[in-house]
Amino acid sequence: MIMKIHRAYKFRLYPTKEQVVYIRKTFGCTRFVYNYCLDLKRKNKYLTKFDLMKELPKLKKEYPFLREVDSSSLQNTITDLMVGFSKQENNQGGYPKFKKKGEKESFRTNFITSSYKDRVYENIKVDLVRKVIELPKLKEIKIRGYRTLDKLPGRILNATVKEVGTKFYVSLCIEEELELPEKVTNKAVGIDIGVKNLVVTSNKEYYGNPRYLDKYERKIKRLQQELSRKVKGSKNYIKNKKKIEEVYRKLKNARKKTVEKIVSNITRNHDIIIAENLQVKKMLVHNNNHKHLRKEITNATFSEIIRILKYKCLWLNKIFIQISPYYASSQICSRCENKDTVMKDLRIREYRCSKCGLEIDRDYNASINILNEGLKCYND
Ligand SMILES: [Zn+2]
Repeated sequence: MIMKIHRAYKFRLYPTKEQVVYIRKTFGCTRFVYNYCLDLKRKNKYLTKFDLMKELPKLKKEYPFLREVDSSSLQNTITDLMVGFSKQENNQGGYPKFKKKGEKESFRTNFITSSYKDRVYENIKVDLVRKVIELPKLKEIKIRGYRTLDKLPGRILNATVKEVGTKFYVSLCIEEELELPEKVTNKAVGIDIGVKNLVVTSNKEYYGNPRYLDKYERKIKRLQQELSRKVKGSKNYIKNKKKIEEVYRKLKNARKKTVEKIVSNITRNHDIIIAENLQVKKMLVHNNNHKHLRKEITNATFSEIIRILKYKCLWLNKIFIQISPYYASSQICSRCENKDTVMKDLRIREYRCSKCGLEIDRDYNASINILNEGLKCYND
């Protein structure tokens, strides 16, 4: 079975002075369109992505400088804005803010290919032997990175150009084909459960940690501090304790709702769901965070995800597999299976393979490993 996955390959860019001018011009134009559309959305929250896209031709007429940059980068900035709004609606982020010059400057260009009279035209071209990239409206730019690769391992989907400090980078999103063991015919998914994102799947779906969980945690902490100052058994003490129980109850309900939503999304599209055994992960959370309340809430969330997954899979006649707690899903490279032992620090978000040079989101890498490991167990 062949599975398609998306991975990012990040290169350092070495643009010439003229290229820097164009790159910064594109930053400016995408920021302009983003802020313009955000302003429209603030005035009318019912505007859809399609409505905003329709503004682009009008805008280009009114502000001709917008025509000087790659048009897909302008469309992508509208997509990003709409993603921001849907995250906010799902309690995974705040209300989108206006972009300021010099703050997280970036633009994303889509890969386009066409052919004309037997000649194939591609708007993004990478030559890893000569170490150059060609981007729309820019001629070749020197790049550095992935010395061991002589060719990208898949199809380019898009390129994101970023300026960080005084340095420029390009991140290429590549669609790769991954071969899975033959026996499996049903759709399988690996899921990584964690603190930063509640769940990351091997299909690259991210389910963030909703903000209200933090809000309840802060509330409980505050009430517990108040409780410690009160006389045990007094009227106020009992009242305060009841309040704490009430917030715990709200937290529990909110968590259950969130987890149920995630689980039904995952079970809807897959027949085999593979997760980790969380014993080791719980210990890691313990080691990295000495705050008792945070530990307790995180562990309860982890357990809830597994509990509802098990229950739902049983109910829907799906297969649920939990892999060995000793399988080091976060330390193994999902491409070459090399094991790097330095990945224990949960603050490092990126997995870097010392053997093949793969750079990939830590949790996403783990989810692919979990999928592969689970399928091995399933086929044995
Ligand atoms: Zn590797």
